[in-house]
Amino acid sequence: MIERDMACAVCGYALNAIDHDGLITFEHPVTPRKDSHDPQPIPAYQHDDLYRRCHMCSTDEPLWTYRTPEIEAVSVGGNFPVTQTYSTRWNACARCAQLIEQDDDVTLTRRSSAAMGWRPTDLEAQILAGIHRTIVRTREPGRVLLTVGEWEPTNLKAATLPKVRDRLAGLFRGPVELPTPLDNTETRGLLAGGLDQARLYWIDSEFTSLVAEVLADLPNTAVTDRIVPAGSGLLTWSNPIDRRHRIAAASWTPQPTGWHVVCYRSLGLDLPPTAMETVRREVGWLVPVHAAHLSREAVVNGDDPLAGLVATWLIIAQQLTQGEPTPVDSSIRKAYARARRKPPEVRLIRIKAPSAQSRSAETTKVRTSTGRAKPDHRYWVGAHERNQAYGPGRSLRKKLDIDPFLKGPEGAPIRASTTVRILGSTRVRRAADEHEQPPTNDD
Ligand SMILES: [Zn+2]
Ligand SMILES: [Zn+2]
Repeated sequence: MIERDMACAVCGYALNAIDHDGLITFEHPVTPRKDSHDPQPIPAYQHDDLYRRCHMCSTDEPLWTYRTPEIEAVSVGGNFPVTQTYSTRWNACARCAQLIEQDDDVTLTRRSSAAMGWRPTDLEAQILAGIHRTIVRTREPGRVLLTVGEWEPTNLKAATLPKVRDRLAGLFRGPVELPTPLDNTETRGLLAGGLDQARLYWIDSEFTSLVAEVLADLPNTAVTDRIVPAGSGLLTWSNPIDRRHRIAAASWTPQPTGWHVVCYRSLGLDLPPTAMETVRREVGWLVPVHAAHLSREAVVNGDDPLAGLVATWLIIAQQLTQGEPTPVDSSIRKAYARARRKPPEVRLIRIKAPSAQSRSAETTKVRTSTGRAKPDHRYWVGAHERNQAYGPGRSLRKKLDIDPFLKGPEGAPIRASTTVRILGSTRVRRAADEHEQPPTNDD
């Protein structure tokens, strides 16, 4: 989970998070020699030069974590014996993991030595061989899916979302170990059941760009039934929405006191097709990277990993978007029919085209402007209360909670983008055609 994803401020190594019954300590993956230092954990995303590789080959992005007892390697080749102590957690990429699963420490060492440029007779290669042999022989049963990897995002498609969803539900139901808090069987069952029933939402690229643009500024937002779409849902953006967490999708499952919410990264690996198939079968396309229980009225803002999801909910609740069914792959539809399941549905959500009314309002604004260009981007207005008039003669007032909303010209969703400027200037030109005194565009 990303909140446990720490790196050492001194050396840049992604640190192992060791859980001692809820108390987490952070260790270097390999304890350095004489010049060793204590790990100084900072959130990994804050490190400019993060080093996170497979602990075996030092080349590929890791995918699995193996557990062993503490391993000590003593090298006796030099003038005096040198002891190196290693951590008890070993991150392995998909290929190295396959070798570990096959108990093939010889190939594992050959692969790693080749990556380091060591010959089999080199002392380093021999120490490595000893470590690999020990990992393979003494590893505890099972392995944990690493949920902090920075894999390339994979190209998800709206048409295959039902299959992606089914595989994800299978991951929660199946034997693959996940870190806390997803190591709880009951939670996993709830999440899988929620996904089975989930409405599937695909956010088109323009809406995704809008969310990416505004999520960091999200004001404090209370999560309530007003903004969370009813039932359970799985929502996928056209591409990862934030550079910090690279979240590609999120799901929510209603609970009596709120919602279980999980964010996912998509899993793209550079593997041969057969190895990739194995990963898709075991893991799927989405890896849970952040899980939270949101109680009703819980407050989320731009610093939260859930900012992108909450911003997307708000924009949908604000009715800036429209949804329509989008075709699902025929092979998936047929598989659903064979299994006598309800036909799968994916809703494509996009930003509404500017309405005629808003276009004329825009023109009016341009006409009455004092010569300064109108704002060409949208911005958040924070949550507030409004006194709503009601009753006979609108004589009574009641307090109404207003959720944060995006303000700014329709059709100009993305701050400072070229598209916005072109649209803006077209409108100004149209206004200029109609009125003799065009506003000067000082932008
Ligand atoms: Zn360090
Ligand atoms: Zn590897």
